[in-house]
Amino acid sequence: MDTPQYRRVLLKLSGEAFAGPQGSGIDPAVLGALANEIKTTRDLGVEIAVVVGGGNIFRARTQGGGGIERTTADYMGMLASVLNALALQDALEKAEVPTRIQSAIEMKEVAEPYIRRRAIRHLEKGRVVVFAGGTGNPYFTTDTAAALRANEIGAEVLIKATNVDAIYDQDPNRQPDARKLPRLSYRDAIRLGVGIIDTAAIALAEEKRLPIIVYGRAERDGLRRVIFGEHLGSSITAEAPALTEVIHD
Ligand code: UDP
Repeated sequence: MDTPQYRRVLLKLSGEAFAGPQGSGIDPAVLGALANEIKTTRDLGVEIAVVVGGGNIFRARTQGGGGIERTTADYMGMLASVLNALALQDALEKAEVPTRIQSAIEMKEVAEPYIRRRAIRHLEKGRVVVFAGGTGNPYFTTDTAAALRANEIGAEVLIKATNVDAIYDQDPNRQPDARKLPRLSYRDAIRLGVGIIDTAAIALAEEKRLPIIVYGRAERDGLRRVIFGEHLGSSITAEAPALTEVIHD
């Protein structure tokens, strides 16, 4: 396959994608590598929007448990994603990729507000658009923001690069007999509670039959390969066979 399979993609980068081996914070080397990967695919003429997470800086579920009220902790998480967005913009612009950040929480000194039509215009002009601040609402995640924005801007696929190489029927770190599931339907992914991407995001994707691809960040040149149609990791689509058939065949 020598042409990109998608014209417009939404890439979800969790906070952990910004951290080095220490698992938190922002690692400049990791950031540079990410920017180069995005540049390579964008230079092929693919329109790329990115939704960034914030878990490398603040995670409401665990740190919020330390006594910070849930809604406040969630806003802190959303603000953390803005820090990652700024870092990614810096790295992309050093790689000479024009980039705009749009934030779901207004902060006009550092980012545009989220305006769907303007985001699409940026993409059409070859700019990478980084969506920060999640959905702007507590009790959501940046996975859900990724599915929401993908649907809104008419992305053809939601791609999430993660720590594990694919979706499994059980946690592969705890269950040695966990089975890899290369193709899943939305219903099965929700029923299984796959964990790697949250249920609300899968349900939103199903509304527009938006394919989700989850692959391991460790894959060399993974983003480009996925965009060229190589089946890396797992996909969640409307066309996937029901899981019972896969498990019992
Ligand atoms: N968050 C939120 N609403 C959103 C997006 C994020 O409240 O629309 C908060 C939530 O507390 C979440 C944190 O921001 O835990 C960081 O986002 P997420 O956990 O999705 O980041 P990731 O795991 O992708 O790094």
